[in-house]
Amino acid sequence: EHPLLKRAAEVISIIEEHGGEAFIVGGCVRDYFLGHEMKDADIATSLLPEQIMDIFDKVIPVGLEHGTVIVRHHSHSFEVTTYRMEEDYEDYRHPNRVYFVTSIEKDLSRRDFSMNAMALAVNGDIIDPFRGQRAIQERRIETVGAPAERFAEDPLRMMRAIRFSAQLDFSIDHSVTEVITEKRNLLQFLSVERLASEFGKMMTSPFYRKGWNYLLATKSFQYLPVFQDHPALVQREPLVLLSDWGELIGFYHLSYEDVSPEEWVSAWRLSNQVKRKAKKITEAAQMYQREGMSGYMLYRLGGAYIKSWENVMHSLNYSLPEDPTIKYASLPIHSRADLDIDTYELFRLFPERKRGKWIGEYIDYLLRIVAEGTSANNRDELIKWVKERDRQKGN
Ligand code: ATP
Ligand code: MG
Repeated sequence: EHPLLKRAAEVISIIEEHGGEAFIVGGCVRDYFLGHEMKDADIATSLLPEQIMDIFDKVIPVGLEHGTVIVRHHSHSFEVTTYRMEEDYEDYRHPNRVYFVTSIEKDLSRRDFSMNAMALAVNGDIIDPFRGQRAIQERRIETVGAPAERFAEDPLRMMRAIRFSAQLDFSIDHSVTEVITEKRNLLQFLSVERLASEFGKMMTSPFYRKGWNYLLATKSFQYLPVFQDHPALVQREPLVLLSDWGELIGFYHLSYEDVSPEEWVSAWRLSNQVKRKAKKITEAAQMYQREGMSGYMLYRLGGAYIKSWENVMHSLNYSLPEDPTIKYASLPIHSRADLDIDTYELFRLFPERKRGKWIGEYIDYLLRIVAEGTSANNRDELIKWVKERDRQKGN
């Protein structure tokens, strides 16, 4: 038996010994029936969070107000959540009130799609009131209950439907896409962070083209940051699968320059880390357009971003002259510290000169000639190059 399921079953048995009821629920059950790898198992229980905290030694109260705690058990973490329902979604962000219920069926009824609304018991029994197994067999996404109501409660479910279609290669029921088209304007009320999480997952999923086509068919692009202001962007489709937001923004900026990487990051409220990566990728691509895949271009890009840059170039239909990873590995230097001369030595060469941007320019010049193999990475040699360069500049 699967180690994750075995450990989850142990947690459930302990809950049962204490008079509670518990099941494995959510994405894990879906992935189990799909034969996909299961990353984490969520557990739903009739017991209250305080009772779970009393039973287990290692419990982290991560979301008590939603009834969720994390139970650590043999180096696995399980989210254990009390059976609950939600009511009164205000401004489409969070339910106003979460209340605990006593039956697993009620808990399942608040879930988004039939494939996500199944429960697995320790003895292998499956509780499937909304015919999730059939939907999985037929590779279909259908809502639990009427889509118009469920999407009005939480419009993020529209994006989740599209995201799951891209992850699983499932089709969304026609009756559901019709409602998405009708209700797509509700997407504007969602927090950008929640939207960004779903859109990012969708675009980095193996069947992203399928998700993309649903976004087009339902006109949901009209309510996504950046896309809503630049309709031409919907014709830009990456030719290969990209792996994160940094690559996505790199791709979009390079294929449509009207929106800068900074604008992408701020409109989608992404991190500085994403911004840094997107800028590295776009700068490298621009340098590539000027001088090809030079040693200095790869040096500037840096080893951490090589694979992503290559991926973005392929997504734009470039074919590279050689393998950038191999070429990067063979460079004589990989960081400024590798250069056989430092800033102080350059100062000492020209003691009469004030500090200024000349020093950075000389360092960049040396980095370039060493990365390109024009000069050996050797102190005396580098000093000769600097003096020669200085003469040429007429200093
Ligand atoms: P993933 O593989 O992306 O984690 P998942 O199905 O586990 O997929 P989660 O976001 O982790 O998705 O949510 C866990 C479960 O909680 C879902 O399977 C679903 O039953 C329920 N759920 C999550 N988000 C919503 C929502 N917005 N509306 C209703 N139910 C939801
Ligand atoms: Mg999950």
